[in-house]
Amino acid sequence: MNLKNKKLIVGNWKMNGTQESARDLAADLAEKWFATPSCHQIVVCPPFPYLSITLNRLFGTEIACGAQDCSIYEKGAYTGEVSAFMLKDIGCDYVIVGHSERRQHHRETSELVCQKAEIACKSGLIPIICVGETLADREGQKTLEVLEEQLKTSIPVIDQGFAIAYEPVWAIGTGKTATTAAILEVHTFIRTWLQKNRKKAADALILYGGSVTDQNAQEIMSLAHVDGVLVGGASLKAETFWQIIQSA
Ligand code: PEP
Repeated sequence: MNLKNKKLIVGNWKMNGTQESARDLAADLAEKWFATPSCHQIVVCPPFPYLSITLNRLFGTEIACGAQDCSIYEKGAYTGEVSAFMLKDIGCDYVIVGHSERRQHHRETSELVCQKAEIACKSGLIPIICVGETLADREGQKTLEVLEEQLKTSIPVIDQGFAIAYEPVWAIGTGKTATTAAILEVHTFIRTWLQKNRKKAADALILYGGSVTDQNAQEIMSLAHVDGVLVGGASLKAETFWQIIQSA
């Protein structure tokens, strides 16, 4: 992944919208891209059923598409699963793995997240591997310890392209953004950890996620070791998402 001097800005639509709203949002983003193409790498991650319609509307732009999860399996009798190969086959370039909502509500472990990241890479997708501490971890002064454990077990030993998203659980969808000092501390910690433990992937992109808006994106993205942002709620409106992109 060569995004030298570019930011990676990812919109996670989560389980929101309809076929019509996905099509309209993608069409609005395409219109904005054609009017003022961005030099940054933009990615949108719609729900599975709306991937194709989104890809269709983004055709001709350099806005990429990603999924919000993938199976650890390649193919076969795994009812309800969607493989990374299938996502690549329809035109996706990215996949989010280990989002805290999946870790929390679907009991995904870091070992499983690591397997998902590995198969994503094998399929030619770029996994965006999410890590982050809970409020109890932070209040108990355990943030870096918890993150180190998540990094050790979630980040595969590969030298192919992947990105890491630092998303404090307590900041997701709450309107509470981590302070710039906290973001800087964690991103520096992750970069140092990569340099020591995943030397071939030492320059992997590190994104921040957690209540990023058009009001705070510029300040967050100007911090050292913040290579982009993962945006939930504020990516559901083309206008706001575009303002975030333009502030990079
Ligand atoms: C997310 O979905 O990863 C996220 C960070 O959500 P929000 O921006 O709404 O906090």
